[in-house]
This record gives sequence, C-alpha cells and structure tokens, in this order.
Amino acid sequence: MTDVSKVYPGGSVALQNVDIHIEPGEFVFVVGPSGAGKSTFIKMLFREVLPTTGSIFVNGVDILSLTPNEIPYMRRQLGIIFQDYRLLPDRTVYENVAFAMEVIETPRRKIKRRVLNVLDLVGLRHRANAYPNELSGGEQQRIAIARAIVNDPIMVIADEPTGNLDPETSWDIMEIFKEINAEGTTIVMATHDKEIVDAMGKRVIAIEDGHIVRDEASGVYGYEL
Ligand code: ADP
Ligand code: ADP
Repeated sequence: MTDVSKVYPGGSVALQNVDIHIEPGEFVFVVGPSGAGKSTFIKMLFREVLPTTGSIFVNGVDILSLTPNEIPYMRRQLGIIFQDYRLLPDRTVYENVAFAMEVIETPRRKIKRRVLNVLDLVGLRHRANAYPNELSGGEQQRIAIARAIVNDPIMVIADEPTGNLDPETSWDIMEIFKEINAEGTTIVMATHDKEIVDAMGKRVIAIEDGHIVRDEASGVYGYEL
C-alpha cells in the first residue's frame, strides 16, 4: 500500500497516508483499538473497500485498476476468513470446501483428493458429511480455513478469526495458520487476541485512529485489555 487513505461517505476517516509493504511468506498481525481502521485495512487487500487515494498492489498486480471481470480472478488467489465463518448452511462440510474448487472449474477427480487433503490438514476429515450447524464454532472455523486454502492462495487474509472462540480453540486455529505459513503462504490477520500476538513473535502492525503507529518485526500486542 502506498499513501493509502480512506474516507467513508459521511466523512469518517478510517485510514490516513498508510504505507505498508508485506513480503511474500510473512506472517503479520494487525492490531489496534476498536474503530482504528483494522477492518478497513484488511478489506482493502481484496478490494472489498476501495481507498479514497493511494495505490495497492497485491502479488505485483495493481488491484485498483482491475476491470470488474478481473476482480473475481484476483480474489481467487486469496484465502479470506471471517470472524463469523460464513459457511453455506445447506451444504455439508465436504460440499462447502469443494464448492470453492467447483467455481473455478477444477476436474471432479482432483477436487475429491484435494478436499480430503485439506480436511485432513484441519483435522476434520471425519466430519466431511456433517452440516455446519452440527459443528462447534472452532470446527466451523477450521472448515472455513480449509475452504480458504483449498485453491492454494498466495495470501490468507483473516479478520478476527478467533474472535468468537475460546482460548484453547483459538490456539488450534493458530497452529493451522502456522502450518499454512510454513508452506510459504503469506498471512495477514487482524486480531484483539493479546495472548496469541504476544506468544507468536510475528510482525505486528498497530493502527490507531487511521495511522500506523507501530510496525515491529517481532512485536507484541501492546494494549491493555
Ligand atoms: P476497526 O476494524 O479497527 O474496528 P474499521 O476499519 O471498522 O476499524 O473502522 C474505522 C473507522 O471507519 C471507524 O470510525 C468506523 O466507524 C468507520 N467506518 C468503517 N466502516 C464504515 C462504513 N462502511 N461507513 C462509514 N464509516 C465506516
Ligand atoms: P465446543 O466444546 O467447542 O462448544 P460442542 O460441544 O458444540 O463443541 O461440540 C462437541 C462435538 O459435538 C463436536 O464434535 C461437534 O461436531 C458435535 N456436535 C455439536 N453439536 C452437534 C449437533 N447438533 N449434531 C451433531 N453433532 C454435534
């Protein structure tokens, strides 16, 4: 991001003159108080929110100059994970994950092998035929992660992925993120989880009032809870 600012209609200034470079393979936490601009920052990475000024390149591509039909292709290179999981309720675990491959027209035989593979990675192959409402919150988030990584994204973007989970379940999620990152996938995660940020020793970008106030290679959460 180069000199990125965001003013929402209505005048709320969410980010101001943000310059951030993230290398391939990095693991980055985005922290800061409520309303600081974290979600805006995260959403700009996949063009969910457009900046008012500035430029954003993802994987060498100027994502602000994409045409409408290029946007889905760009997003397919990213794995996006939300606090509230966003699984399809009327499809099984297997179908939720397979769907992400069907939309890019992957051959059926390849789909089966890969889906079972990522379900193994998140430890939920035995739940392949369950429906989302039969799973605990932590299990649903693991399925959302499986779906996010099934097409081998270059970057996983997560907005408060452990926000609804208890500490132990949150650590299970972080173990999966560590494994994904160890395979070379960039991870950018907004979080309020002080314990996780402090224990992981990863890069921390702190945003306050729309400004980057801290950017540390092996940082801490840095706020009182
Ligand atoms: P955080 O994720 O750190 O809580 P956000 O990026 O959600 O912060 O919000 C930053 C600022 O922008 C806040 O003042 C918020 O009220 C405002 N904001 C966020 N989204 C919108 C929107 N869609 N319309 C208007 N203002 C918004
Ligand atoms: P947590 O301790 O994380 O809240 P739960 O108690 O919700 O987890 O779930 C524990 C186990 O029971 C999980 O394996 C989950 O898949 C299973 N389970 C939970 N609710 C249902 C349900 N309605 N139908 C079938 N299995 C369920």
